[in-house]
Amino acid sequence: MARAIAHKALARWNAHPRVADAYFEYDGWAADDGPAYWVALVPGWGVGGEAGLHTIHEPSVREVDAKLRDIEPCDCFNCQVQLNKQTQGA
Ligand SMILES: [Zn+2]
Repeated sequence: MARAIAHKALARWNAHPRVADAYFEYDGWAADDGPAYWVALVPGWGVGGEAGLHTIHEPSVREVDAKLRDIEPCDCFNCQVQLNKQTQGA
């Protein structure tokens, strides 16, 4: 039987102030062919010291949570452009 989708975790991630969007995908990333999770961060935040990385992609809730604990402010060019767009109300 296929591993269940972690709807509660998805709802929790989507409610996170630094998360723009969280969703699952059967993309073969998980070793058991179950759902893998994508978590896109809001502009101005990046994942654990990797410049320009703004999405978390992990096959388990535990691993997504670990990455979410490791997010940091990001001022890469992409984030600057996105944040300028927001302040200009575009
Ligand atoms: Zn950035």
